[in-house]
Amino acid sequence: MSLSHIVIIGAGQAGASAILELRAHGYEGKLTLVGDEPHLPYERPPLSKEVILTPDSARVEILSAEKLAALKVTLITGNGAERLDPEARLVELENGDTLGYDKLLLATGGAPRRLPMLDSLAQQVYTLRNLEDARKLITVFTAEKSIVLVGGGVIGLELASSASARGCRVTVLEQEPMVMKRCAPAALGEYLVGRHRAQGIDVRLSTGIHSAELQGEEVHLLLEDGQTLVADAVVYGIGIVPNVRLAITAGLEVDGAILVDEHCRSSHPDIYAAGDVAARRNGADRPRRIESWENANHQAAIFARHVLGQEPPPARAPWFWTDQLGINIQFVGDMAAAQWHLRGDMASGTDSAFTLIGVSNGTLVAGITVNQPREMRNLRKMVDKRVCFQPEQHLDVTRDLRKLA
Ligand code: FAD
Ligand code: NAP
Repeated sequence: MSLSHIVIIGAGQAGASAILELRAHGYEGKLTLVGDEPHLPYERPPLSKEVILTPDSARVEILSAEKLAALKVTLITGNGAERLDPEARLVELENGDTLGYDKLLLATGGAPRRLPMLDSLAQQVYTLRNLEDARKLITVFTAEKSIVLVGGGVIGLELASSASARGCRVTVLEQEPMVMKRCAPAALGEYLVGRHRAQGIDVRLSTGIHSAELQGEEVHLLLEDGQTLVADAVVYGIGIVPNVRLAITAGLEVDGAILVDEHCRSSHPDIYAAGDVAARRNGADRPRRIESWENANHQAAIFARHVLGQEPPPARAPWFWTDQLGINIQFVGDMAAAQWHLRGDMASGTDSAFTLIGVSNGTLVAGITVNQPREMRNLRKMVDKRVCFQPEQHLDVTRDLRKLA
């Protein structure tokens, strides 16, 4: 089949990255990027950090209008895809227009998982996924406001840090006994709880909400432990739900996310999926979905090269980062590693710098750097090579990790 028109649905991280990959790898045919947001493609990581902390200088753009024109991309904004007909190879947009395609990428991301108890208040309750959400939070996080963050995941902790830096009084409610439990080991969670508390942030673990009500301009939260919290605003981040509606109506195989093979191909050979919306089949194990900036870019590259009949990019251990309270933390590999070992000193203070090494069955399978971004390159190499863990060398800070990698 000739390849003369590729359509990408979702003008976010994976969609924009797919554009760049396709052109960089020699695709010269027609390329259409369909977005339901009114913006040029932009990055989400700054939304919880720089956009709130330094709104005037924060940069989010991935592809400028000039760059898109130079790449000969047709960008459709504010007009999402409504329906998909895989047999006719047609996409119908919200305004009724239709687009034909030879190959299609679904890069529709996810939406905040809803908490009806809080949504029902209708006021003073916020979530964060897009630029408009972030801009609202700039006006909400003003000095002396009391802000409750529900969910001690990455959004909760990054926003706690940003709200606190803007002078708010901040409380984080986490129902589990530890923060960032889904994506980090307990040792790092404990460190973070200590740092947030030292900053004056009230982090409450194993704490659920029993009920919520609006009293005037205030939100009153009755907690399961019987206490009441009064807040000027509540922001919740309790995970995302992949945007799979189009895929379901098109009859693709979906199990919470769009199921894809190692080439990011869905159950229909002309349709691919990448980023937060895609879950890679994993043999007998549960399909695996990775919610990170790097994974969106990597899967976009896999898609682009597969439709062009080229070799995939090299497989690498997953990597992501978070910035909180001025601390840069980077993660590589399997965060469910069986044991974690400390390299360096986990001393208190924002300028403490250390590394955690994750080991399973004697092999180095994961690493976390705290305020040591330059060590990440070495750790990545070690995880990718699956080196045998040697505590006397790997935990000795006088040994240069570069030489051990
Ligand atoms: P998105 O970037 O969400 O793009 C999907 C796009 O598709 C959206 O524009 C959406 O509106 C659009 N869309 C949906 N349905 C349709 C439709 N029917 N038609 C047309 N368009 C549609 N990761 C890190 O590794 N480090 C970080 O520090 C980090 N910080 C983050 C901070 C925030 C606040 C958020 C929200 C995420 C952060 N992430 C971070 C995660 C990372 O940004 C995501 O994993 C990444 O954006 C996923 O890319 P994506 O293309 O799959 O989805
Ligand atoms: P998340 O990292 O999945 O964390 C959600 C947190 O909310 C978890 O601690 C979860 O606990 C808790 N939770 C779930 N249901 C709850 C409930 N009913 N009540 C109270 N707490 C509940 O998701 P997120 O922080 O909302 O982030 C959303 C998305 O943005 C993700 O895709 C994330 O990767 C992305 N993001 C990434 C970064 C980064 O990588 N630096 C930064 C910001 C955002 P359980 O463990 O019990 O489920």
